Amino acid sequence: MDCVFCKIISGSIPSAKVYEDDDVFAFLDIAPANKGHVLVIPRKHFKNMDDIPEKELSSLMLAVKRISKAVVEATGADGYNILNNNAAAAGQVVLHIHFHIIPRYKDDGIDLGWRHLEYAKDEAGELAKSISRFL
Ligand code: AMP
Ligand code: ZN
Repeated sequence: MDCVFCKIISGSIPSAKVYEDDDVFAFLDIAPANKGHVLVIPRKHFKNMDDIPEKELSSLMLAVKRISKAVVEATGADGYNILNNNAAAAGQVVLHIHFHIIPRYKDDGIDLGWRHLEYAKDEAGELAKSISRFL
């Protein structure tokens, strides 16, 4: 499969490895938002949230939590963002599910801000109900 992250796991592309176990691999992002920006991925190839099974996602998220703490301790960051992009429209470039752990510092200039729209009357309630119906 022509997947850059599968190649990192197999070792055919080099990476700065942070952690690995039977299910999970973690390494430094090659173009970090801040130094110490880590990507956490499952060893098995899943495209994104839509196709990763719950068991694999559980292992992945537990590793994300553990690695986040290590990133903060190693970098002295004041906080961190955990990000996961699903599909091109949401900014997913590499189609092998991954969580970004980005160490953050007060006033570090990274802008993850988004616009704040407003709902029309009744719109929020109807949309909330519509989403609920799919659960
Ligand atoms: P996304 O936009 O969520 O798909 O993020 C993909 C991330 O993978 C980007 O932040 C890239 O910098 C990172 N990336 C791509 N190729 C490599 C690589 N060979 N080693 C480490 N990180 C990579
Ligand atoms: Zn892959």
